[in-house]
Amino acid sequence: MINRTRNTKILATLGPASSDKDTIRKLFEAGVDLFRLNFSHGSAADHKARMDIIRELEKEFDRPIGVVADMQGPKLRVGKFKGGKISLKEGMKIRFDLDAAEGDETRVQLPHPEVIQTLVKGQNILLDDGKVRIEIVEKGEDYLIGKVIAGQTLSNNKGFNLPGIQLPISALTDKDRKDLVTALNLGADWIAQSFVQKAEDAAEAKKLIGGRAALMIKLEKPSALDCLDELLDIADGVMLARGDLGVEIPPEDVPAVQKHVVQKVRAKGKPIVVATQMLESMIESPAPTRAEASDVANAVYDGTDAVMLSAETAAGKYPLESVSIMNKILTKVEQDNLYRKMMEASHIDAEDDPSDAITVAAEQVARDIRAACIVNYTTSGSTALRTARQRPPRPIMCLTQNLHVARRLSVSYGVRGIHVTDVDSFAETVERAIGLAVEKEMGKPGQSLVLTAGVPFGTPGSTNVLRVAWIK
Ligand code: PGA
Ligand code: MN
Repeated sequence: MINRTRNTKILATLGPASSDKDTIRKLFEAGVDLFRLNFSHGSAADHKARMDIIRELEKEFDRPIGVVADMQGPKLRVGKFKGGKISLKEGMKIRFDLDAAEGDETRVQLPHPEVIQTLVKGQNILLDDGKVRIEIVEKGEDYLIGKVIAGQTLSNNKGFNLPGIQLPISALTDKDRKDLVTALNLGADWIAQSFVQKAEDAAEAKKLIGGRAALMIKLEKPSALDCLDELLDIADGVMLARGDLGVEIPPEDVPAVQKHVVQKVRAKGKPIVVATQMLESMIESPAPTRAEASDVANAVYDGTDAVMLSAETAAGKYPLESVSIMNKILTKVEQDNLYRKMMEASHIDAEDDPSDAITVAAEQVARDIRAACIVNYTTSGSTALRTARQRPPRPIMCLTQNLHVARRLSVSYGVRGIHVTDVDSFAETVERAIGLAVEKEMGKPGQSLVLTAGVPFGTPGSTNVLRVAWIK
């Protein structure tokens, strides 16, 4: 049996370094709470194979595991080069055009006509996560000429960003629309939407998803930060995608943005994931740098729901070590009394609503009687989200008849979703919760549980009972 003693969750990306059942099982055992299938890489068959393995493990471990299908979005990329890459020199000029022929030191394909149309002389293209900077010095009908300002090499299909430039494009490409159908048919629990620029982007995704999965918007464009309130009304969760965001906005702005975003999304009662470069050096090395260990820890101190691993687990040499060390860092921070004080100091009051008031009261009661865990019986998962918003130090057992809800909640702070199909009354729920607390090692005889539910039983959004029960 898998038992986690921490509340902050780990989202790990699967890829070539983590596609066989044995590796995925080990990643799960080492601490992964939910997995990301990255539709920027791999075929539909690759994603299906990984999904099948996750669902098998779910049965094996009797624990719902969330799956995030991440849509590539309008990621801008250059074309290919003869020999795979070119060396760059400061001052060197390169022509960007629409010709699909392999490039060389003098020209390369830039297969996005709207970029060629939008960019003007003097603007910059940042390539390969900002490692290469090229300034536009000439603009033609269907080409651009750029001068290398900084950078060493450029290889095939490297991505690029245009800081501060809003492009007239939708956040869902034709590929995304196909991938979305694939992901929903595979039964993904979350759809992550890349390069969201405005509220309509999220609204469109939400409509296409049609309730079959939850929507996680990725914050990686400055314009999305400007309309975060509107986006939060639409999205079910948020990923702070620091990779692209940190190229689009100056790197010195990222830490403060992280703190503000985590606080805001948490206050809204929706899960927030801090992502990218958390243990980047572990792609090549078995131990993290001190700065990386601090970065992971600081995301926890900020109060995030989850932290994410990308290439570290998808394509790195040390996927397992990356998860293990991340698990250790999360556990360590959560044991720090300063962390606890910080979570308590950022306590959020209940909203003017009986369900929310009961949820907040449940945590207060649990603290006073030192309850082993809080138990929410919920159809939609909303009560568990409200409890998670409190960032309680004890686990949240979320009993739900809806397996999708249990899986979705695997990203949320402290929530352990349990799928129950055979409880029909509040009294039965109490009995089940007591049995499950012991079975899942979430409580011991002599300890108490604080439960919330809605009575009459089975009316969604009607949490109106708070009850204390003892494990005998
Ligand atoms: P990606 O998104 O890994 O799909 O690029 C995360 C990020 O940009 O940080
Ligand atoms: Mn990105």
